[in-house]
Amino acid sequence: MVAVLNEDKPYGMEMDMNNAKDSIFAPGLERLKKPVLPLVNMVQFLYLTGPFASIEEVVSRLTKSVELEGVEYVDPQQMLRPYEVFLQEFEVLKGKKKLSVSLPFIVNEKQEPVVKRQALELWIKQQILSQELEPINSLLCEPCGCVLCCTGPNSEFDEAAGYKGRMKQKFFEIPLAENEIDLFSVARIDTEQSCAVMSQSEPSLQIQQAPFYEHQMALYHWKNGWSLVLPEGSVCPHLSPETQKCLVYVKRPAVCRKPQIFAYVLEKTADTAKRSDGALIPVYMARSKVLAIWDCPYVRKFQDLIGSYAEMSGLEPVFKKNKT
Ligand code: SF4
Ligand code: SF4
Repeated sequence: MVAVLNEDKPYGMEMDMNNAKDSIFAPGLERLKKPVLPLVNMVQFLYLTGPFASIEEVVSRLTKSVELEGVEYVDPQQMLRPYEVFLQEFEVLKGKKKLSVSLPFIVNEKQEPVVKRQALELWIKQQILSQELEPINSLLCEPCGCVLCCTGPNSEFDEAAGYKGRMKQKFFEIPLAENEIDLFSVARIDTEQSCAVMSQSEPSLQIQQAPFYEHQMALYHWKNGWSLVLPEGSVCPHLSPETQKCLVYVKRPAVCRKPQIFAYVLEKTADTAKRSDGALIPVYMARSKVLAIWDCPYVRKFQDLIGSYAEMSGLEPVFKKNKT
């Protein structure tokens, strides 16, 4: 089932995208048409039900092409290699090794804890899907010539791209990890007041009697971490005005690598749980979805393929509009 959470038409760019030749998207589409999760499911099944001592033993036997979900995987072994480190975690289920990471506490959508085996499977799939989607997103974004992810609402680039209508948001933000904030040489707001609220809190954080988003672009330290706030009309300082490309592409923040089709097998919640040793660990909710953001031109253009990608991966595709 394909769920669309908001069916509003987005911006003028859609018209250009409809005319864009699919061949410029071919490298990204080739990958989108061959998701790795059907292969992962096959390896998991063979490993758990067969006489195999290791995942490597299963993968090394995949020397011929296989057809799954109507798609031919010519070299399954080569396709699985980049994900082996995650696949090997399945060996925990046969008592062959200890988990190499600390699993979060995972609940279902009714807030009930899921059993350990399911939690492990969900975690592995979230990691594999995230890794697979990063290059797919980059390959599909690059030919679009769009900079929506790098600008505040109603920037000069939106006008140039021919977006119709004005966005209603007052700011966009780019969430950043602590070790990413030094990438940006802009003002920092790291006060007792900012650390006590979140960017979406109501009433908004006030600075000199005005909401924070009415001030210039800045880095904010919120209750839930750092973000670069892009107020109306602003543009990320790393977006080249000449080429409209990212000037720090190789070391761009993690969040910039993930637009706009997301692995949504698990969603981090604001809760924490106490482990048996007393340590507090994050709580994740099982979603079993692929989330695609409707504002993005390649998401609109390839919505059917994204839907098939999710369904072949055993996940529900969900399309959501973020920017209005
Ligand atoms: S760092 Fe690069 S990719 Fe990220 S918002 Fe800025 S220009 Fe865009
Ligand atoms: S909205 Fe889509 S095409 Fe535009 S910059 Fe973001 S990821 Fe790229």
